[in-house]
Amino acid sequence: MRPKDRYQRLGRSARLWRRTNEEPPSYWTEALAGAQPVYGERLVHAENRWLRRWEPNRSKLGAAIAKGWTEPLPQEGERWLYLGAASGTTASHIADLVGPAGSVYAVEKSLRPFARLLRLAERYPNLAPVLDDARRISGYLGLVPPVDGLYVDVAQPDQVEIALENARTFLRERSSFLLVLKTASMGRDRSPREHLESAIDAMHRQIEVEEEIALDPFHRKHYLIGGRPGRALFRPVEAYRARPPFRNRDSRVARES
Ligand code: SAM
Repeated sequence: MRPKDRYQRLGRSARLWRRTNEEPPSYWTEALAGAQPVYGERLVHAENRWLRRWEPNRSKLGAAIAKGWTEPLPQEGERWLYLGAASGTTASHIADLVGPAGSVYAVEKSLRPFARLLRLAERYPNLAPVLDDARRISGYLGLVPPVDGLYVDVAQPDQVEIALENARTFLRERSSFLLVLKTASMGRDRSPREHLESAIDAMHRQIEVEEEIALDPFHRKHYLIGGRPGRALFRPVEAYRARPPFRNRDSRVARES
């Protein structure tokens, strides 16, 4: 007879599980929407709940966890902003992790995956799909409140700038920051490792990077970078507040001439 499967909660997370009687172990999130799969993943009923298998080949955050990533991660009850949600593969697992008391604002700019994201949201009441461009924050500024975490997976050449602008707008001091870096989008003139280093340099003092991990063999030339807002992230606003009263030099020139 096959031995009974064993599941254990992982780290600080109340809704992330690891199946321990296998090598390598598999990872599972507590399904918020019952026994229905989102992208063809397996479901099991264990520990008196439905668990969804987090496929590392389909999700970059799933790959990071399979490779030992533990922090930062979405926690129960938190509010997250997700940029580049596509049809919701990873967003659904984040929605599982934050649970019914948390929420995920999922921004996607392409219509086709967005239509599937909308359908997913019918089953996931804590998932709010937003059809917009993550470079155009003004489009969703009035919709998205300050968040506990930001997850960015847009696979664009300016992915770091997009992440920083959104972090500046929506994060609070102790919020979490997760950026999936697709180095293939950053040009062929440097190695993936060099692209990673230049991305970390560009975030200097704005994001205190706590952890980074290569996602191969699941996702080649991708990294996950995790951290918290640094002091310089919010500096423009602080600098603006601290500035002396506005003096228009041009008007002085105009008066003097
Ligand atoms: N994060 C998804 C997952 O793991 O399930 C996969 C995301 S896919 C690599 C990148 C997505 O980002 C695409 O669906 C693309 O349309 C979207 N995207 C790219 N640039 C964007 C932008 N500026 N604003 C919003 N979405 C964007």
